[in-house]
Amino acid sequence: MGEFELIERFFKRPGAGAGGSGPVSLGVGDDCALLQPQPGTQLAISSDMLVVGRHFFADVDPAALGHKALAVNLSDLAACGARPLAFTLALALPEINEPWLAAFSSGLFALADAHGCALIGGDTTRGPLNICITVFGEVPCVNGRSQALLRSGAQAGDDLYVSGNLGDARLALEALRGTAALEARLLLPARARLERPTPRVALGQALRGVASAAIDISDGLLGDLSHVLTASGVGATVNTDAALKLLAAQSLIAHRPNLGSGTGASTTTVPLSKQRLLEFVLAGGDDYELAFTAPPQARAAVQAAAAAAQTAVAHIGQIDAALGLRLIDAEGRVVARQFRSFDHFK
Ligand code: ADP
Ligand code: MG
Repeated sequence: MGEFELIERFFKRPGAGAGGSGPVSLGVGDDCALLQPQPGTQLAISSDMLVVGRHFFADVDPAALGHKALAVNLSDLAACGARPLAFTLALALPEINEPWLAAFSSGLFALADAHGCALIGGDTTRGPLNICITVFGEVPCVNGRSQALLRSGAQAGDDLYVSGNLGDARLALEALRGTAALEARLLLPARARLERPTPRVALGQALRGVASAAIDISDGLLGDLSHVLTASGVGATVNTDAALKLLAAQSLIAHRPNLGSGTGASTTTVPLSKQRLLEFVLAGGDDYELAFTAPPQARAAVQAAAAAAQTAVAHIGQIDAALGLRLIDAEGRVVARQFRSFDHFK
């Protein structure tokens, strides 16, 4: 099988959203794809690359990998409040492995179809496994003003919210690396969070006109929140007890303090102390939840957006005029910060 047969078999689909009333005028097969955004909208564009050995294990389930490669990109559209339109896929493959490609494309297209987001082009080459997706989304303009959610809009006095769960993906990563022991009933759902993240696309759109700033959490809450704080010129206080409740596995672990130091595990296994779980929640990474801010008078609107998107949101802190990031517990006591967020070059 050659390059063109590969594209034809696994990535070109009949119709592919082209020709109808949708935004895709021309899909896979020519030198360019053609997109027709609605009048009065802006295009929102984002790229994310997944590299073997850095972002995923070489033996990861290819269907999950196809899902995640698109999910991390849709998460960026969600953070901007954009509606997904289409995406391109640049793929480097060490070899043509047909069962692998069939599973990868099925995972990819299942998520693409769920969001009405068509694959409209890409590039295919031989090389170490590497997946780069660019997504195109649409954000309405009202009276000529973009409704996109930005990192720069947080104001002192705003509430700080996070969607869904935090830290479970990191918990799974530690278990898969052998640095935390996790029984199957805990590992299974945590692993799904790591390998099949849910981009909060509906929530992002529902928060247009409600949230003052938003970001998606890919590198850990505190690290990504600090981008919002820098862009907005504000500080924040995060309640660590409220944040810790967002670890889905928390309630199952809490009453079993010795979990993680159990028998049969790798000798490098470290017990899952509260401090360590807090690190997973605040700086774990791979969550793909939204962190966003909104003024206190928008509390009902935030709850309405969460209900409309069928996505839980939790109020975990406040935006302050004083710069910097402070951690407090439920009693208001200062919590020391003993970890840093992920950075590819540090
Ligand atoms: P060109 O030589 O003009 O760059 P290619 O020969 O690389 O075009 O690709 C042929 C067509 O197949 C183009 O429409 C391109 O967008 C599409 N394509 C290539 N690789 C992929 C892929 N992995 N997924 C989807 N479409 C692809
Ligand atoms: Mg060409």
